[in-house]
Amino acid sequence: MNGTNLCEVCNEREHTRLCDYATGTGIITSVDFKELTETCNKKICTACAVQLWDDCDICPDHAEQVKKKLFRE
Ligand SMILES: [Zn+2]
Ligand SMILES: [Zn+2]
Repeated sequence: MNGTNLCEVCNEREHTRLCDYATGTGIITSVDFKELTETCNKKICTACAVQLWDDCDICPDHAEQVKKKLFRE
């Protein structure tokens, strides 16, 4: 069981969460809708996770995508 719990972003710390970004529909879902959509589920540690709101943390890659969507011109 070596390394399986490592954060996939930094590969240094143990991951504590999974990316909540919904890959199936391309939208971010609240916890209630999680089961309806596929999520990224990338393993991320607290240092690498980007928190959008309570109980919704996403990987840095998807955080960039979200920012572009929210603030696109
Ligand atoms: Zn990390
Ligand atoms: Zn992600």
